[in-house]
Amino acid sequence: MRPIQMVDLKQQYLAIKQEVDAAILDVLDSSAFIGGKPIQELASGLNTYLGVKHTIPCANGTDALQIAMMALDLKPGDEVITASFTYIATVEVVALLRLKPVFVEVVPKTFCIDPEAIRKAITPKTKAIVPVHLYGHAANMDEIMKIAAEHNLFVIEDNAQAVGADYIYPDGTKKKTGSIGTIGCTSFFPSKNLGCYGDGGAMFTNDDALAEKLKMIANHGQKVRYYHEVVGCNSRLDTVQAAVLKIKLKKLDEYIASRRKAADYYDAAFAVHKNIVTPYRAPYSNHVFHQYTLTLDGFENVAEVRNELNAFLAEQKIPSMIYYPVPAHRQQMFAAFGGADFNLPITDWLTDRVISLPMHTELEEEQLKFITTNVLDFLSKQK
Ligand SMILES: *Cc1c(COP(=O)(O)O)cnc(C)c1O
Repeated sequence: MRPIQMVDLKQQYLAIKQEVDAAILDVLDSSAFIGGKPIQELASGLNTYLGVKHTIPCANGTDALQIAMMALDLKPGDEVITASFTYIATVEVVALLRLKPVFVEVVPKTFCIDPEAIRKAITPKTKAIVPVHLYGHAANMDEIMKIAAEHNLFVIEDNAQAVGADYIYPDGTKKKTGSIGTIGCTSFFPSKNLGCYGDGGAMFTNDDALAEKLKMIANHGQKVRYYHEVVGCNSRLDTVQAAVLKIKLKKLDEYIASRRKAADYYDAAFAVHKNIVTPYRAPYSNHVFHQYTLTLDGFENVAEVRNELNAFLAEQKIPSMIYYPVPAHRQQMFAAFGGADFNLPITDWLTDRVISLPMHTELEEEQLKFITTNVLDFLSKQK
């Protein structure tokens, strides 16, 4: 059996090596390392795939979120409602721009922001909502967009973990996550579902004026070279990364199918155990399984059992991860932002119980069997 990885980037690369190597050599040959042709080609490929008018590539997913908030002219003190149960990048940029992060609960089944909690957190200072499609499951965008329309709020989708996921409306129509809000943001970090071989990110919007502004801010606040209209930053996707992403975008649906197949295997194996809650798939979301995350429940000391499972799996050479061990509102960096004032029992409850298992496009049945057998063996011995 091949060694088990949390994400097996090497195996995935080997399967597309010829095409990728040739594309990278082409970039080297052209020497257009910045602003080369593949960047525009990738942007139009993403426009088509996601069904959006504009894709603005940038240096990483964190920059995408930051530039989105800069483009919406949010002012220091403006309130941004988001989940504490997320990767730090989502909320870090809120603080960086001196906006006020307002942390609310997630729905435990979906791990995504709870629309009812958003409603309760709205004040006259609220300007934006940042839903995160966590682990590859779509947030309840229909509800979120309704709330935003009622209160005249911007919606910035953090789509870093869910590129390719569909949001399905009650009448059956579908939209890709990241294409629904005012601006969608994503990351091309290597381990993401659409990952490059370095850092990368992008912003998506259907608004022409906003697209211009995002592009301008990502390019030192200039439309015309050396004439700087607004304070911007320097955030570029380089040509080598765009060349790699163009190839991987063609494979994205196939990659998602492989992830789902692995998730189906896990689901079936864990269905027998009453203390394991497998990832829920809401009817409105087409899950793309960036992570396969279990919630343990019903053990006497559940956090301890979860941590011991993590350690036991490591001894069997099975990687597993706690995403994330400390929720945002409890991070030291948010002490100055009143993080500790937020009372989020559901977020804390989940933080003690979640564990993510290996999930990638190259998992083999033999590996999945080894993982599930070990998880079940260990848990069957716990009280
Ligand atoms: C990865 C990630 C980001 C940030 O992306 P980078 O490219 O690493 O800056 C933001 N939000 C979420 C939810 C992520 O998973």
